[in-house]
Parts: sequence; structure tokens; C-alpha cells
Amino acid sequence: MPILSPTLTNISEGGSDGWEILTRAREMIVAGTPVTQLTIGEHDIRTDPSILAAMDQSARGGHTGYATVPGITELRTEVAARVQARTGVSTRAENVMITPGGQSALFASHLAACPYGQKALYLDPYYATYPGTLRGIGAVATAVQVHAENGFQPKASDIELFAEGAASLLINSPNNPTGVIYTRDTLEGIADLCKRHDLWLISDEVYDTQVWEGEHLSPRALPDMAERTLVIGSMSKSHAMTGSRCGWIVGPEEAIAHIANLATHTTYGVAGFIQDAALVALREGPELEQKIAAPFARRRAITLDILKDQNHITLIPADGAMYVMLDLRATGLSGEEFANRLLDEKHIAVMPGESFGKAAAGHIRVAMTIDDEQYGAALRTLCAFAAEFCE
Ligand code: PMP
Repeated sequence: MPILSPTLTNISEGGSDGWEILTRAREMIVAGTPVTQLTIGEHDIRTDPSILAAMDQSARGGHTGYATVPGITELRTEVAARVQARTGVSTRAENVMITPGGQSALFASHLAACPYGQKALYLDPYYATYPGTLRGIGAVATAVQVHAENGFQPKASDIELFAEGAASLLINSPNNPTGVIYTRDTLEGIADLCKRHDLWLISDEVYDTQVWEGEHLSPRALPDMAERTLVIGSMSKSHAMTGSRCGWIVGPEEAIAHIANLATHTTYGVAGFIQDAALVALREGPELEQKIAAPFARRRAITLDILKDQNHITLIPADGAMYVMLDLRATGLSGEEFANRLLDEKHIAVMPGESFGKAAAGHIRVAMTIDDEQYGAALRTLCAFAAEFCE
């Protein structure tokens, strides 16, 4: 066959993709060994019946043809109202583009913000697909390390060292994989840097309904940032709608109009019955969001309770999202070694920090995505296992 385009084949850089533990855990399960899975960021509940009913009603009512590409006006208006209510920033339907999930919103936003061959900055540790998304649009994906010693709060001065010649900066708060929420100070530093270096800020806020400590601040609300910020949102985490593929980008009208044009030439939008269901879900308001977030709040409390009785593992501030990150450096093992041995010897699967870049080496990410009791039991086993290496 003719050669495949390097823009495509370079999306994954080859070698380890960081997900070997998950693959191995799945193989063990198929071979009959029960494994406790604390790897994937997906709820242990399914989409709420009220949302499914809305989806069914819409589809049967005929909303199965092509939907308008930027998204149906009612949903764009609802997202705009939600964003405005949460941030105080004036937001209209024209500032909102409905996308097939946050993932494609990340791709489209970077295509909008970053000319081919220019640097796109992202922070390490990072959500696993970030560098591939940036390479996928032809950018030079450039990681900036965020340090465990700083509680995984990024420092503008560290980012500044890479800002020359960059077009965009991607941030994520509440953060996957660390569970950290960026403080106002952190975000003000980042906003100032973006203005001084004329960068687009792409702010991935898909975990904005999972906030346990402090408050989530959208950097789009900081002075003069609305004109250079593209916010990524999604129904996946807030409404347990991962499979429905419904998310959005909020940004300046001109950027959104071009991104809508991109969608006309790529995805052709999001299914109408999914958008109708998302509209019903958002109109249910914070009550439904809190119901969906509640299991993670409970498991976070379980985590704090279990970890207070030991001193080998350090918990990175568990401010938000459905993960906790544990510092295991006292065991002398890398995150990868620890995760592999935990899987082999205790049949518990967690993600090594190294899967999320260099900065979280010696850490593991634990997804709080199983039943409370099982979760607590697995975490106790994990703590006892870590203690064995510290004696
Ligand atoms: N951003 C982050 C930080 C994520 O963790 C995820 C999913 N795990 C996404 C974006 C994409 O989510 P979706 O495409 O389902 O909206």
C-alpha cells in the first residue's frame, strides 16, 4: 500500500502506551482470575433512566436525521446559560459548539488554536490522550512538568520557559490523573502568562461537577481571558453519559463559527436524540449532577479515612475528579513496578503514574469507580502491600 501519512502514524509515538496494566488485568479476568479494577475513569452506574427516556422519546419522535451542525439551538443556549451562571461571564449560544464528546472538542480546539508545526504546550502528568491529540493536528506537542513537591499545582514560571514560539497551552482542572484543582493563584499566573505570550488557553473542565475541596474556577472568567480561552465541557463525567458522545467547546464567536465549519467537514455534528437527552439532563440542574458525583465523594472520604492510619503512602490533595493519586516513593518502587506487583500478587489493577508522563513517576492513580465496600477493601490491601516494602 502507499505510505500512510506521518501526521496519522505519529499520533502514538510507539513503545509503551501506558495501558499495559489494563490489558494484562483484562487478560487475567478472561483467564478466570478475578481482578479488582481501579484503572478506568468510568462510573460504575449507567446513564440515568430519566435521560434514557428522553433519548428514546426524541428518537421515536423522529429526531434521527441530520441535526444542525453547531448543535441544536436549545442545547447551545442551555450550555451557554449554565456556563454563564457558573462563571459570571456573558455567554450566548453563538459561543457554544456541541461536539461528539470532550475528546473531539480537544482536537477541534487545538486545530483552531495551533498552526501546523507550531508548539502546543500541555502539562505533565497528563490525561493519556493529550500528546496524541496535539500531534494529530500537526502540532509539536511540548510537555511542561508539574511537580509533586508543589502538590501538582503548575507554576507559570516553569511554563514560561517553553512559551517562546508556542501557540497554545492546554490545562485540566479538576485534574486527571492527579485529582488536584488549580487554585486561583495558579490560574491567575497562567492567565497572565497566556496574555504576555499571546497564547490560546485550552481549559479542559470535564470534571467541573466533581469538586470535593476548594472551588473550581474557570480561567475564562479571569480578566481579558474570554477572548483567548476555549473551554472543553462534556456530559460524560457530569451525567454518566460516556457512551453518548456529547460535549462542547465554549469560546469567542469567531472561533466557534470556524470550529462549526470544521465539524461540517468532519463529524457532521452530534445525533439529535443525544442532544435532546443532554438538554433534558442539563435542565434537571445540579441535583442530578450531585447524585452522579456522590459515589466519588463517598469514596474519597473512605480514602482519607484509610490513609490516615498509615504513613507509607502520601495522598496528593484529593480535591476533585474520580481519581486519587498516591505517592509511593517511600516503597522504593517505581509506580510501574508497584502496579505490576500489586496486580500479580494481590489481583488489584491501578494505573502507574508513569502512564501519565514523567512527572508522576513513583506514584499510582487509583480510580474510585467501584462499589464502596470493595473499594475500601482494595485500598486497605494496597496500603498493607505498600507497607511490606517500607519495613
Ligand atoms: N478530558 C479528560 C481530562 C478526560 O479524563 C476525558 C475522559 N477520560 C476526556 C477529556 C474526554 O472525555 P469525553 O470525550 O468522554 O467527553
